[in-house]
Amino acid sequence: MIRNIAIVGFGLAGASAARSLRGQGYDGRIHLFGEEPVLAYDRPSLSKSVLAGVAAEPPPLLDAGWYTAAGVDVHSGERVQQINPAQRRLLLPSGASLSYDRLLLATGARARTLSLPGATLDGVLTLRDQADSSNLRGRLGPGVSLSIVGGGLIGCEVATTARKAGAEVRILESADELLLRVLGRRVGAWCRERLEALGVVVQRNTRISAFEGKGGRVRAVAFADGERVTADVVLVSIGAEPDTALAQDAGLTCARGVPVDATGLSACPDLFVAGDAACWPLRDGGQRSLETYLNSQAQAATAAAAMLGRAEPSPQVPRAWTEIAGHRIQTIGDFDGPGDWLLRGDAEHGSPLLMLRVQSDAVAAALSVDATKDFATVTRLVEARTRVTLPELRDPAFNLRDFLRARPAAGAS
Ligand SMILES: Cc1cc2nc3c(=O)[nH]c(=O)nc-3n(C[C@H](O)[C@H](O)[C@H](O)COP(=O)(O)OP(=O)(O)OC[C@H]3O[C@@H](n4cnc5c(N)ncnc54)[C@H](O)[C@@H]3O)c2cc1C
Repeated sequence: MIRNIAIVGFGLAGASAARSLRGQGYDGRIHLFGEEPVLAYDRPSLSKSVLAGVAAEPPPLLDAGWYTAAGVDVHSGERVQQINPAQRRLLLPSGASLSYDRLLLATGARARTLSLPGATLDGVLTLRDQADSSNLRGRLGPGVSLSIVGGGLIGCEVATTARKAGAEVRILESADELLLRVLGRRVGAWCRERLEALGVVVQRNTRISAFEGKGGRVRAVAFADGERVTADVVLVSIGAEPDTALAQDAGLTCARGVPVDATGLSACPDLFVAGDAACWPLRDGGQRSLETYLNSQAQAATAAAAMLGRAEPSPQVPRAWTEIAGHRIQTIGDFDGPGDWLLRGDAEHGSPLLMLRVQSDAVAAALSVDATKDFATVTRLVEARTRVTLPELRDPAFNLRDFLRARPAAGAS
């Protein structure tokens, strides 16, 4: 009988799993451990509203009263030191240990850093948690020069926010376009143009060799070709690494993330993993850490059910959103898969726009720029693998919503 569930990591996946366990009627103990000294909060706001100063703090994912009412033992500010899956025990910072029947690792990811000369200078920052966001926000302001190393999602979001705060913003990207990996070349180029229109300077194909400082503070970024640009603040935004430290230490083989099956179960019985830390199977093949909000939430619910013996495998379809230069961009599925790409909408101006990857008469992936309602419909097409052909989708008179009401899912036919 399961009476003791421990959750390590009090972010989105940890809090979602706790809520899901109670939602499914589990009335045993839940111990929720979080290294950060706060309740789980909305991490995406750290590069958006919180960084902009619109909100003083990130919104909590659940009210403090929920944890009390649900009888969850919250241990904020406690970093679990070690796990012992064989004995089903956790080692706590106090030196005490705690036994469990089931364990969920929801330790998330850590911002990747650059090991270059000057990387430890004051003002060379990363952005992952609330403390990082407050630190960056405190340094931004009119006239401050911010160099962002990495033109991915978080880099472009911060560029948008920092420009609004009056900072002089420069993105330094090693590839020949922004956002290539996550949004593809066409949308990447479109976002760059929007950011440039906001006054962001974008330098592509850059090779950074060092951060230069004076009196311990960063003053410039130096390039391999001898060029340099001045910078009061540098944000290194080059992606994240799933936090697998506890799992690795316990002897689990990890790649980028802890490998799990489609219910979140790792190679150790009774040890589940969800969220950014998990290397989770994908519906369309392969397995990886997805590092998105919606996937983390879905994985947490699946793992919670599996911990209670109600395993329902849920291979994931990647799903993400971002806000860049005032535009909401949403994605589902993988961009580099096979098939044909199709544009619906105002391709000339880029917004509203829907891009669909059609493979074997089904939409395998989609990207929306400001086409929120259509994207919701397309999401259902992708999830249900609804049978639909290229000529149908190409027809401007073709109404996605009507179509979805009338057609069965491809998997079901
Ligand atoms: C700035 C920013 C903006 C983002 N914006 C978006 C967005 O717009 N759209 C989107 O889809 N996704 C976005 N994401 C990604 C999204 O926030 C993550 O996918 C999601 O938070 C992952 O949830 P998680 O619970 O797995 O990890 P996290 O939210 O990182 O939580 C993990 C928690 O575990 C704690 N922890 C780690 N080790 C231990 C330990 N040993 N003991 C105790 N606690 C521990 C960590 O301190 C952390 O608090 C963004 C991420 C960042 C950083």
